[in-house]
Amino acid sequence: MSRVSINLLRTPVAHALLLLMVAFAWSPVAHAESLLIQADRLLDVETGEISPDARVLVVDGKIVGINPESIPQDARIVDLGDRTLMPGLIDSHVHLTSSGDDFTREILTENAAQAAMRGAESARVTLMAGFTTVRDLAQLIPSTTLIAVALADASDKGWIPAPRIITAGHALSITGGQIDPAMWVGSAEGILNLGPENGIADSIDELIKATRYQIKHGAKFIKIAVTGVMSQHGIAGVQQYSEQEIRAVVEEATRHGIRVAAHAVGAAGINAAIRAGVTSIEHGWMFDDESIRLFKKNGTYLVPTTRVAGVISLESPIVVPNLAKVAAAGVKIAMGSDASVTRHGDNANEIVAMVNLGLTPLQAIQAATIGAADMLGRPDRGRVQPGLLADLIAVDGNPIEDIRALANVAFVMKGGKIYKQPD
Ligand SMILES: [Zn+2]
Repeated sequence: MSRVSINLLRTPVAHALLLLMVAFAWSPVAHAESLLIQADRLLDVETGEISPDARVLVVDGKIVGINPESIPQDARIVDLGDRTLMPGLIDSHVHLTSSGDDFTREILTENAAQAAMRGAESARVTLMAGFTTVRDLAQLIPSTTLIAVALADASDKGWIPAPRIITAGHALSITGGQIDPAMWVGSAEGILNLGPENGIADSIDELIKATRYQIKHGAKFIKIAVTGVMSQHGIAGVQQYSEQEIRAVVEEATRHGIRVAAHAVGAAGINAAIRAGVTSIEHGWMFDDESIRLFKKNGTYLVPTTRVAGVISLESPIVVPNLAKVAAAGVKIAMGSDASVTRHGDNANEIVAMVNLGLTPLQAIQAATIGAADMLGRPDRGRVQPGLLADLIAVDGNPIEDIRALANVAFVMKGGKIYKQPD
């Protein structure tokens, strides 16, 4: 490059022009792509209807037409053949940065960078299993860095193959409560004395501080551990926060336009959390008649994480209620695998388990699509409809006839980008 052009580049106007040129060259608009996705079947997750010979037109990451009369000349055709096309699945309860193989070792030995690497791999296998959105509900690694926020950012930027991630950062828990990492590792006094940055909060002031810290650092949901279940003391499901404390968290989060999920197992805690205005009850296994009344009255979602109940060891085993009865009573249900306690990538087995517990295949699919999207406050996903995000999957077989089809995801698209397709 000549001395003259170097000098030109040094002028502010030339520099701005150069930046504009670079920005234009990298602009996604410059790479606009039209894709026509064809499959023998398309599942409407609202009605359960299967329409034959479906064609979905995707432009710039969005669904723009279903069986359109005309398609752009340059549209690339992806023919999925004898498969069922449907919206990408949503898992409303995962912990990407934990593997569950050995919580104690991970909590004590992994730093944020290591846990981020682990989380990236968890996110990858989750996406490949057909889950294009997950809600990450709490980080156990005791770093004040919100690791899943970085994963969410990396996913949005296309740095890593991952679902869209909506994370709560650290869960709010009382000292020695359900989601105090010190309790999980059984540490001695003076070790792992964590504070509001790590979600450990013992008063309304501390809860507000903890909530604000998570939101400041990128949490898009708040998780509060209202009861125990696996803490090392107390009875399963005993209430750990007062209704007044839960309400303070909900009010603070709501001021930021953010919703609250409550880990709650026992009826007293479930009912207090619903009255306090949380959006979802996680686990919720020991609810009572009053809980059902409150769930219906407030439109609160239940995320029953049924497979976890069978995995955790307690003195008296947890019995998961029949979900057909719960749904028939008018309780809204969203699907959550609690992956980390269950294996990342096995998420769809929770949908199968929900059918084994009484839901119809369509109800279980709705809990992982339109129900979850509604619970998350994300109406831009969860169904195949023009204007929505092009988050699509295709499975072998027909999941309405056999829900286990969801375990064989052959095609995954997120935001118009194909991450997995049949050979
Ligand atoms: Zn969990």
